[in-house]
Amino acid sequence: MVHRLAIILIICALGFGGCKKFGHGAKETQLLNPGPSSAALTPTPALTPAKPVVDQTAQTIIFCYHRFVDKVRYPGTEITPPAFEAEMKELKDRGITVIGMQDLLAWKRGDKNIPPRCAVITFDDGWKSQYEVGWPIMKKFGYPFTMFIYTEGVRGGQLGGGEAITWEQLADMRDNGVDIEAHTATHQDLREGHNIMLAAAGGKRTKTKLVGPEYEQWLQSEVVGCKQLLEQRLGIKVNCFAVPFGSYNEHVKEVARKAGYEAMFTVYGQPITFTSPLDSLGRYAIEANKPKVFADAVKMIGTSSGGAAAVAEVGAANLSTQPADGETVRTALPLIKANLSGVGAIEPGSVQMRVSGLGVVPVSYDPKTGTVSYQVTQKMREKSCTVIVSAKSEGKKVEAHWTFGIDQNAAAAPATSASPSPTKKK
Ligand SMILES: [Zn+2]
Repeated sequence: MVHRLAIILIICALGFGGCKKFGHGAKETQLLNPGPSSAALTPTPALTPAKPVVDQTAQTIIFCYHRFVDKVRYPGTEITPPAFEAEMKELKDRGITVIGMQDLLAWKRGDKNIPPRCAVITFDDGWKSQYEVGWPIMKKFGYPFTMFIYTEGVRGGQLGGGEAITWEQLADMRDNGVDIEAHTATHQDLREGHNIMLAAAGGKRTKTKLVGPEYEQWLQSEVVGCKQLLEQRLGIKVNCFAVPFGSYNEHVKEVARKAGYEAMFTVYGQPITFTSPLDSLGRYAIEANKPKVFADAVKMIGTSSGGAAAVAEVGAANLSTQPADGETVRTALPLIKANLSGVGAIEPGSVQMRVSGLGVVPVSYDPKTGTVSYQVTQKMREKSCTVIVSAKSEGKKVEAHWTFGIDQNAAAAPATSASPSPTKKK
């Protein structure tokens, strides 16, 4: 709660619209009274549930993976498990939060906030190694992810061979919270007039060009039929559509929109922003022999492109702050500390601490341990104290806010020791 408020305050400070109704004067009391949800922060009585204020400066990169194999033979679609795991770890190390697809869409709708720098992981085409190899690695990190399935490629389908995922495996993934979405029926170029392959019931395949009503019927089966089959076989709601090879046009988009897809995805990687059009969300397709694609994607949201406005909010809980957020100390001379080692590479000269009532204070920063600390030397008079620690990491400003309380009675006693004896509020 306090964390969310901190984000709201940052957004307000940056002057984004929609924040004006939050008076800055409410800061102290609200921080001390973490009430339920943002509704408590809205001064006007809300008849409808108040929408959270989302951070419109957040950015997300979406990755697309295919097969996980020990020995790469088709580098365009394969990656080794160690290489994949290293990339997942790198996201964590860089402070990029892996979020689920539905959270990304909820953020785009303005319904839910997301951290400033996020990644969404998607697995395409429905390979068995995604279930057997990719999923366990994702579990290790606790990352959510999305499967984009072309239905005829599932085991038993016209194109589903021995390496294909089974419906039972997909059901298992569904039961464990994996997001399953559509990637057509037969994975082909969806534009009219292109060569397509048709498989007859007996397995005989013919190449042909479809036009007019025949094409429209085929397109329906690819775009709509795929969604219906996934929804019916798995009892799920499908609202995302990954376009094979990223090949589509306005007509294909129109058909997909009418089918009820909320978002469409291509393979042209780009950071997704609050205003990115939902019918062409680019994903970075990761290939074994092109590690630069991953490195570049990560860099895209690692550096600020939006000028002074880009500040990444870091949760105080991740910095092992002392005193902790919401804690009450029994001294008016607390030692204030935070550990920045989890934030990423910190530029030592950039570390700054602000303390309410004091302003910028002279901190000591130990680059070895990442510890920033300040011993308060003049008695603090307020019941609560807000600390803002900021630093530059990889060219981007990161910031953490937290608030602790000061027990007035204990603080009024003669200061015998500067060390706090904290009591947890909850
Ligand atoms: Zn595909």
